[in-house]
Amino acid sequence: MKIEVARRAGFCFGVKRAVKLAYETAARSKQTVYTLGPIIHNPQVVKDLEGWGVKVIENPSRIKDGVLIIRSHGVHPRVLQQLKAQKMLTVIDATCPFVTKAQNAAACLRDEKRQVIIIGEKEHPEVTALKGYAGRDSVVFNNNSVKVGPRIGVLAQTTLSTDDFVKALMYLGSKTNDIHLINTICRATQVRQQDTMQLAKRSDLMIVVGGRNSANTSRLAELCRKVGKPTYHVETEDELKARWFSKARLVGVTAGASTPDALVRKVVKRIRDITAKKKKKVLKVQKVQ
Ligand code: SF4
Repeated sequence: MKIEVARRAGFCFGVKRAVKLAYETAARSKQTVYTLGPIIHNPQVVKDLEGWGVKVIENPSRIKDGVLIIRSHGVHPRVLQQLKAQKMLTVIDATCPFVTKAQNAAACLRDEKRQVIIIGEKEHPEVTALKGYAGRDSVVFNNNSVKVGPRIGVLAQTTLSTDDFVKALMYLGSKTNDIHLINTICRATQVRQQDTMQLAKRSDLMIVVGGRNSANTSRLAELCRKVGKPTYHVETEDELKARWFSKARLVGVTAGASTPDALVRKVVKRIRDITAKKKKKVLKVQKVQ
């Protein structure tokens, strides 16, 4: 049995940068370090940072001083203003530059006096923040139930799949001809999705590694299922089951943009160990016969 890891899998540029900033700040700061929400959607990394004294908070008005890191998803401009007003608080902004670009795109469409439509997940922190830049009458589109005005501006959550973006655009295009579209899907997302789909097509089964709360990891699992391959989404190597691999000749492994490389390596190693043990067992039985 062969194991193949997708060419581009795991930490993207924005996540790597945010996590590095968090570890560096924790190592040198004499004050308490906080992140506004979990720094990334990966429970193992968040737990490890906890060991370095980094605390996750949801409501910054509860703290008076310390260092607060804004994660790669960015924040609503109102929250940013509130943070700046807290004079005893040092704010480190780890918003991914591609997310900043999407925020600027939202503001640009708002300034054109268009109704801004964000294609993505309503509750996702990046989308909540984007709405703050997109203006009051902006809406989040994730099915066909939104009310579409005559002049619209359209952009996407950076981790949206290209397929979903195209589908939404076809629907919106049937409602109005006056559309200013800005494609804000990040390249790191696109290449991970392309590589994952290519690998899924060749593989007998797919293992997707990453936080269950990670939108881009869950999307990779969705894509593998769409290709029609048995797919297992695991957070750590401990969740792997030997029976999954009994008939597989090629196992594909991929990981979301918030999954550390070390975790992917551990998963690959465990698959090797599990399948090697199984092979030995079969050989032993054959010898006895
Ligand atoms: S997926 Fe793209 S936009 Fe999101 S953090 Fe990574 S590089 Fe930035």
